[in-house]
Amino acid sequence: MQIAERTVASFHYTLTAENGEVIDTSREREPLTYLHGAGNIVPGLEKAMGGRNTGDSFQVSVAPEEGYGPRHEEMVQVVPKSAFEGAPEPKPGMQFQGQGPQGPVMVTVTAVEGDQVTIDGNHPLAGKTLHFDIEVTDVREASEEELDHGHVHGAGEAHA
Ligand code: ZN
Repeated sequence: MQIAERTVASFHYTLTAENGEVIDTSREREPLTYLHGAGNIVPGLEKAMGGRNTGDSFQVSVAPEEGYGPRHEEMVQVVPKSAFEGAPEPKPGMQFQGQGPQGPVMVTVTAVEGDQVTIDGNHPLAGKTLHFDIEVTDVREASEEELDHGHVHGAGEAHA
């Protein structure tokens, strides 16, 4: 079956950075399953998935504009360590939930110097070109309920 609107596709992916470093892979897990056309995966990848069939393997490079968006330098802030009162000692690479203008955002600690903690509210993959290695493992028709909800329901999953 071919991936199109109103289908649910499953695929294995390996995501690598510009330098060839593997950022994430589904190979050790279950394939990722999504409702095509609902914006549940990054736009550049969703576009490349359209028209593929079960068993297809392909590679696609996704520019930041069609991936996790550009980086916004104003989302990088330096805050005093006291802002983390009651939270674990901030260390580079740690992620905290913060408040952004549009609701909760994940911020990543990128540097700690003395009392100064640099936090970055950008998605870790913002501004990056994403290289995907894809294998389509399954394509099926979406259920009416999935189309209503705009997302996939797993086996036996039901909710209001
Ligand atoms: Zn649902």
